This record gives sequence, structure tokens and C-alpha cells, in this order.
Amino acid sequence: MTAISERKLRLVRESLILPPRPKPTSSVETAPGRGDHFRPGGQPPIKPTDPKPSVPPTPPPTVDWEAKLAKNPAFQALNPGVQQAVLETLANPDIEDAGKEAIATAVTSPGFALLSTDDADDFLQYEGNTIPGFGAQIRAELAAHLASDEYQHPHVSIFPLEQAVGQKRELLEISRGAEALPGSTPVGGLPPSQRDVTVTGPEDVGEYDFETGSADAERYTFHVDGRDVEVIYPKEHPEDSPSPEELEQLFETLPDMAASEYERIIIEPGKTEASASTTGDGQIRIFPETGRSLERLQSTLVHEAAHNVSDDAFGSPSSVDVDDDLSELSPGWQEWAAAAEADGHSVSDYAYDSVAGNNDDDRRKFGEDFAETVELYYQVRGTPAEAEFARLYPNRYDLIRQTFGDA
Ligand SMILES: [Zn+2]
Repeated sequence: MTAISERKLRLVRESLILPPRPKPTSSVETAPGRGDHFRPGGQPPIKPTDPKPSVPPTPPPTVDWEAKLAKNPAFQALNPGVQQAVLETLANPDIEDAGKEAIATAVTSPGFALLSTDDADDFLQYEGNTIPGFGAQIRAELAAHLASDEYQHPHVSIFPLEQAVGQKRELLEISRGAEALPGSTPVGGLPPSQRDVTVTGPEDVGEYDFETGSADAERYTFHVDGRDVEVIYPKEHPEDSPSPEELEQLFETLPDMAASEYERIIIEPGKTEASASTTGDGQIRIFPETGRSLERLQSTLVHEAAHNVSDDAFGSPSSVDVDDDLSELSPGWQEWAAAAEADGHSVSDYAYDSVAGNNDDDRRKFGEDFAETVELYYQVRGTPAEAEFARLYPNRYDLIRQTFGDA
């Protein structure tokens, strides 16, 4: 398959957005295909808390996990090394109490005792990560899943061993990202400004043929790093769309790899199922979407730019049928697939499903895993969380840095 036809496929799929899979009742093994992350319902921006509360809050009572687990027979049955790793994770002050509860519930469920030491460590490393806006979110998903019937009674079995075997399988999948968030989570707040952007316009361009209907339109010109980016708006700016000032802010803060990607932005007058769509030719359409944060929109622009970069860097094809051998991938994508396999974890539910081939066309799509991972990379790059990202995804981290010349 050529790069062009893969791009076309992607456009079709990324524009057709499926409703979110209900959680936590979905099945890990039979997870349905997902739309891309361009769905309604992005994460709202994280609001900073009031820095100076008038009365200092009383610290919540801290659970003494060591004492509590000392009385738990399931915990005591774990091997001493795993017990130690659990206690170290639960002692991390950067993990919220609810997240510690979820981890404690997981490690004392019958399935956890069946994990190998390495798999138990991997699980703790992934579920115990403290990447802002990311770790706490996947622990909330974990808590919901552990409480579900699907986890408590896998295969509707009354036999304890079968329950444990089912749980072990689920914990392994969870550790790979099966219960992560649908898309890479914006860590919160746009990165610092990278460049000055100036805006001229608007000028009338008369009636314009938008994808969602014709309307009187106007054009702004953004001057970005010596290039002109054309931005087309309906004369009546749609609600739930970024303003020219917000787009200017996005362009000031976009990583270079994405800022250099776009030549034309079309603000569509009408809603569709999609949040945005692109054909990989430097043009992106942004559809109105209620509640979408600027951070989410920036992630979307990075995700799409990552597709275009990887098409050039890794060649084609980037996907294979679930039954096919990975040697059908281009050499560049074989390298990425090997890195993903070695890392073990995915950054999002969507990336996990794409790699596993849990989608409508039963194809394993490594391009989606790349784009999702790059989204999170640019959210943590240059922050203290970058080291943790590198620990969780070491092989992909190296490849990403090579690809973008950051290494
Ligand atoms: Zn994508």
C-alpha cells in the first residue's frame, strides 16, 4: 500500500468518530474499533488551585499501607521482592490516595499473584507513574475496571482459579494500556512560547466552499517563522471554535515539527462527528466542538503532524492485517513495532487498540501508536516528567528523538 492510500484511509477513519466505548464494562479481548482521538470529550484544561487558601487545609489522614497490607493474606502470599516494590510504589508521595487504593486493590486480587516478577514490576511501573495529567488518569481507569463485573467475575466462573487466570490476563492487558485513556492526555497548560507569530487580516474572500456548507468567508494570514499560514474563517465565526487569537497562541507554542507542517487552516462552520481532519497535505479542517481545550487542539495538531513526519521517515506500509507477519511492514515501521513490543506499554487506549488490531478492519496500525506517543512526548519534553516518559517507553523514546533530531 502506498503512503498516499494509507493517508486516505486515515482521513476516512479519523473523520468518522465512533462514540466512546463504555467503561468499565467493555471487554479487553473484544474491544471494538475506535475512532481516532478526534472525538468530542477531550480533557478539560487542568485548573491551577488557589495558591493561597485563607485557612491551610488539614492534610488528609495518610494510610499506613505497610501496616494495612501486613494483615492482608493475599499480599503476604506475594514474593518478598514484589511486596517490596508494591510498598515502594505506595510510599510515593506524588501518587494520589485514590490511586494508591486502586493499586492496592489490584495487587491483592487473586490474578496479581499469578504474574511473574517482571510482569508485576512492569505493572507497578506503569500504574505507579506520576506523569502529570497522565498517571492519575490511568489509575482512575484502573479503579473503575477493578470494580467491574468483568474483572470480578471473568468468564462468569465460580471457580477461584479460573477467576485468577482471567484476572491475570486482564492485568497483563491493563499494563499494556488496555485501560488507559482514549487519547494521549494533555498534561495541562500550553508549553512556553517558541516563536513570535504576527497576524494580518481579515480580508474578505467572498463565498467559500467549506466541507460543511458554503458561507461568506474571510482570510487571516499568520506569519510563522518566515512562512505564511492561511486561516479561513466563516465571516460569522462559529461558536466552539478557536478564535484567531487562540490560534495565534497555538502557533506560538507548537513544537517546530508541527509549526512547520501546516499551510492552511480551515475553520469549518458546521459540526461533524470529527473534531478535525487532515489529508496530510499541510491543510487541516477544524470543526466546532463543545468543551475542547486549546491543549487538546494542540495535541491534535501534533498528532497529525507526526503522521506526516513518520510517513516520510519510516516509509510504507505502517500497518498489517492482524494475521500477517510484521515483516510485511516497511523496515522503518518494523523498527518502531519492535520498539513498541520491547517497551510493553502504550500511551493510550487508542494506541493500544491500534497496535493490537482491535478495530473495524482488523489491522495493526503502528502509525497511530507513533502519533499518540509523539503527542505525549511533546507534552513532557523539557519538563521533569520527561525522565519518567523515557523510563516507561525507552525504546520509542530513543527512536522519536532520532526521528526529530532531538537525540
Ligand atoms: Zn491518527
